[in-house]
Amino acid sequence: MGKWLLANVRVFDGSLLTDPTDVTVEGGVISSVGGGRPGDADVVDGAGATLLPGLIDAHTHADEPGLRQALTFGVTTELDLASMPDTMIPLRNSVATSFDLADVRSASFGLTTPDGHPHQLRQEMNDPVWPTATHPDQVQDFVDGRIAEGADYIKILIEDGHTLGASLPTLTPDVVDAAVRAGHERGKLVLAHALTFAATQIALDAGADGLTHLFVDQPHTDELIARIADSGMFVIPTLSTLASITGQRNGADLANDVRVRPKLSPEWFDNLSRSWGFQQPHEFQYALDTVTALHVAGVDVLAGTDAAHLGGYGMAHGASLHDEMRLLILAGFSPAEALNAATSVPAARFGLHERGTIRPGARADLILVDGDPTETISHTLSLLGVWREGVRLDPAAVNPT
Ligand SMILES: [Zn+2]
Repeated sequence: MGKWLLANVRVFDGSLLTDPTDVTVEGGVISSVGGGRPGDADVVDGAGATLLPGLIDAHTHADEPGLRQALTFGVTTELDLASMPDTMIPLRNSVATSFDLADVRSASFGLTTPDGHPHQLRQEMNDPVWPTATHPDQVQDFVDGRIAEGADYIKILIEDGHTLGASLPTLTPDVVDAAVRAGHERGKLVLAHALTFAATQIALDAGADGLTHLFVDQPHTDELIARIADSGMFVIPTLSTLASITGQRNGADLANDVRVRPKLSPEWFDNLSRSWGFQQPHEFQYALDTVTALHVAGVDVLAGTDAAHLGGYGMAHGASLHDEMRLLILAGFSPAEALNAATSVPAARFGLHERGTIRPGARADLILVDGDPTETISHTLSLLGVWREGVRLDPAAVNPT
């Protein structure tokens, strides 16, 4: 991790775009923006390009191959929102020194009921027995257990299967209340999975910190938007997943992009090209309209994809976050606001200080793209370079021939 310099580059600093300037990195940290040019630094020419903070995907289910693929697309941090701790927690700890993988934070197991979501999707996966809860008295053990494992935050799944083509037992509101209280008492964020209007209200009643999806079963109401805004809750809509659930073909278009396809294995190309199609196409518009209303109301909206494992159709690690930003623009975000949703906003809401921004002292998670994504968001896929903590990823992984 020597000293190096990006010369003549426009910088999107996590809120605004600058005129061409120089950015110096030393020891994995940004040491200056617009400062002098140290004579002993290696120089990378950034003329005509834009430097951005590494992207943060605020909703994934991570594993080592997924983190490797994510980094090739400029996603330098993934926030895992439920995984098996026997593999996830060692990975979460070893990834700090694996510079060909995106960094990761994890919830470990999510709280659900026996046979509740997502057990119906994981029958072939040889999971260990999940700790579950059907009564508030069981919740403290769940929360303490996850924190003891090393979980970074607590995830709860309020899901009756209604929008997923299933009928499932789900957490009762008193268990959700207890989980939020227990997580907060231990100083952890508590994040709630909710795909219906009713589940969203349960999460709000309990005081959850964030929603990890958005409901698709009906249009929003002004009252609900006001409640979310008043609560201070943030929302990770996962429009990519909602598009898949409602049978859109976004993933197929993305998979066939010439900047995407060479980086996907045949299995991931197929996975990204397919969609779930559990719900009706018009319900996707409910979600877009809800995101628009949340944005207008000043709610923090975070870009997240729900990229998971093969079988989670319509998503692929790394690639899908670029499409998530496009979908946020479809909901009324400016390109700069969509970039914030994938950089500075998730960094702030998850306490990832020194990420999601380009300024002296910040971690040198950086991506260099051809063009200006504050004009045309898809330029984020035109990657010229990816650095994780100042270490450049092999260019052949970013642009395979
Ligand atoms: Zn998920």
